[in-house]
Amino acid sequence: MSKEKKKILITGASRGIGKDIALKSKENGYIVLGTSTSEEGAQGLEKKGIHGLVLNLNDSKSIEGFNDALIKDHSDIEILINNAGITRDNIVLRMSDEEWMDVLNVLLNGTFKISKTVLKFMLKKRWGRIINITSTSATTGNRGQANYAAAKSGVEAFSRSLAKEVGSRGITVNSVAPGYIETDMTEQINNKMKEEILKQIPLSRFGRAEEVSQLIEFLITDEASYITGQTIHINGGLYM
Ligand code: NDP
Repeated sequence: MSKEKKKILITGASRGIGKDIALKSKENGYIVLGTSTSEEGAQGLEKKGIHGLVLNLNDSKSIEGFNDALIKDHSDIEILINNAGITRDNIVLRMSDEEWMDVLNVLLNGTFKISKTVLKFMLKKRWGRIINITSTSATTGNRGQANYAAAKSGVEAFSRSLAKEVGSRGITVNSVAPGYIETDMTEQINNKMKEEILKQIPLSRFGRAEEVSQLIEFLITDEASYITGQTIHINGGLYM
């Protein structure tokens, strides 16, 4: 199958869900580029046979340099997974401008800026896959996560709009919205809160990174070519 020659870029591939997507994509025969915010993280990826690049989506200079490097060396990228993410939780009354902007920059502005660059490569090939990792909270909202939920919801609306712009060129754009997945991000939740959350999940457990990456591996194939503009939920029934 043609996927063996395809190049995939995954932002935030040094840990968690992104790392699992990178490893699975490599296993499946893709040429894999992954990012980390640090040189150390990028080197860690190299050790696993993934081409590691440094990218900080909260730093416009870093994004500029990264995009230039893509144009110079990787204009054959056909698949993009906008996965990098952070949380800066706080209730709105206490939320600082910085907490608001950091999250908006990494999640929403970052997705726009990297997609715009890679999209030009895809348009030339008349084939492409963009998957944006969002969150259940984009749909449900979440106390203490107004910044995060607003950004993720913005990414979903961005995905649908872009899907309409580029569908005729063989490019699909979808969002994957996970619920609670066991990674460093959910490690921050205290035990009492975890118990409360588990009561709301019909499958009575958090998800695993590989359960998300498995779904993504399907969405990037030729077989998924009629799926676009969708938000696909994977949350153990937390939201239905
Ligand atoms: P992790 O915290 O495990 O990993 C985050 C990744 O993003 C790391 O590779 C990290 O790089 C990178 N990253 C962090 N800050 C930046 C930045 N400023 N610029 C570029 N990259 C950055 O997260 P998860 O694997 O849990 O989350 C992956 C995605 O899934 C995120 O978009 C998250 O919002 C979403 N998600 C996660 C859920 C969960 O329950 N885990 C639920 C719903 C959605 P580094 O290692 O260098 O810090």
